[in-house]
Amino acid sequence: RQTQSSNIEQLAEQVVAGDRRALARAITLVESTRPDHRASADALLAQLLPETGKAVRLGISGVPGVGKSTFIEAFGLYLIEQGRRVAVLAVDPSSRRAGGSILGDKTRMELLSRSPDAFIRPSPAGRSLGGVARRTREVLLLCEAAGYDVGIVETVGVGQSETAVAEMVDLFALLLLPGGGDELQGIKKGIVELAELVVVNKADGDMQAAARRAAAEYRSALRMLRPLSADWQVPVLQVSSTEHRGFAEVWAAVQRHREVLGEAGLASRRAAQAKAWMWSEIEEELRSRFAAAPAVAARLAEAEAAVAAGRTTPAAAAQELLGRFLGEAPSRD
Ligand code: GDP
Repeated sequence: RQTQSSNIEQLAEQVVAGDRRALARAITLVESTRPDHRASADALLAQLLPETGKAVRLGISGVPGVGKSTFIEAFGLYLIEQGRRVAVLAVDPSSRRAGGSILGDKTRMELLSRSPDAFIRPSPAGRSLGGVARRTREVLLLCEAAGYDVGIVETVGVGQSETAVAEMVDLFALLLLPGGGDELQGIKKGIVELAELVVVNKADGDMQAAARRAAAEYRSALRMLRPLSADWQVPVLQVSSTEHRGFAEVWAAVQRHREVLGEAGLASRRAAQAKAWMWSEIEEELRSRFAAAPAVAARLAEAEAAVAAGRTTPAAAAQELLGRFLGEAPSRD
């Protein structure tokens, strides 16, 4: 135990010193499902906590094909030119399907991945969204401790993962195509509502005029969807990720958003996120312990069948199972 805790201390020091291999080892530890690894990971994170929080945390979403990888690679290289160090993480619960994932593709962002000032980590595999999100949050903290001062969290704009990403970043950006005006309708309203920055990608060549039109349409659509906020009106910008245009404007918008939030605003946003994170840890842990408890496991299938068949009410079945979990006699009220 003694050696273990001094090992963790050493690993923490190496991470802070910017040792990439130590960072990779720390991430492997944090992503591990082994209970003893979990204990070490928690110790490591506790030790590194004072070194975290210094990065600009950005979320980026958009449908497959919109150009997320192209944008992140080129924008990342732009930021590195500005003297930044960039970590790119992904939240993609579907990446467990081997080979089927866009975000898991190893050849993505090859140029960026070769930069000593970039660190790219694919989505942790084989978990629920909740599991992927909690590990990604932790990996983001590790990267901050390692001195990466911009953390980009990427997700595919098709499902639930956007909310999870929005809950771990300072600014959530949505990438759109210079398509017709009804493109916004194709994206779930909830996702558009999360966007604090809209970037129309592929504003180049033949698509330049369409991009300008699309940007204007998105601007008015956003105004209808989200009534003008006194604090922050969602900017709609145009970029070309292949021609490396528009990045300065994107970064300026990110900076402006930070100024508008202010230090206190940013701190309270992150405080709320940390509290929500704690509750989701509690929920996940309770749920998995509940399902694994022998007294519950023995009755679970039967209870589900009884509820499905309408032989018992969901509330009564839940009470009975919870009673077993908590070691009480089944509640009869
Ligand atoms: P992702 O699925 O959102 O990660 O999209 P990718 O980054 O893989 O890009 C999808 C396709 O769009 C690729 O063929 C890219 O070369 C292309 N693409 C990405 N950004 C741009 C851009 O700014 N302009 C043009 N013309 N094509 C782009």
